[in-house]
Amino acid sequence: MDWLTHQIFPGGKFLGVAWSIWVVIGWLGNAAFSLRFLIQWYATEKKKRVVVPTIFWWLSLSGSLLFLIYALQRRDWVFIFAYAFNWIPYIRNLIIHSRHEDAHVDCPGCGKSCPPESNFCASCGAKLPGRERGVA
Ligand SMILES: [Zn+2]
Repeated sequence: MDWLTHQIFPGGKFLGVAWSIWVVIGWLGNAAFSLRFLIQWYATEKKKRVVVPTIFWWLSLSGSLLFLIYALQRRDWVFIFAYAFNWIPYIRNLIIHSRHEDAHVDCPGCGKSCPPESNFCASCGAKLPGRERGVA
């Protein structure tokens, strides 16, 4: 068993990295930051227009907080400053996102939740209530 441990962790390292809770936190931050771009890209390709899903802001928030914890532990002031304030726009975007979601209208025909600016249901084509303005 000791021989195997030395094979997997030569010099106490795995993949050339001396692992600690702080390294794990730093890599989780990297994972969150990378994943948010993949999700945003996927959402944009799927709709064929630029889309920023709510999960993007949650991953941004968690990734930047993980990086901030990592940077604080390392006492790296350049790194700390880079992640000290970006939680502010992330939280602001989450608040605006949730207000936008609240403004959605439920279709009287099929019950689908429709975006606030829509006049007709995208699913069944029924006219949405309270949408008289600017309708030809
Ligand atoms: Zn409908």
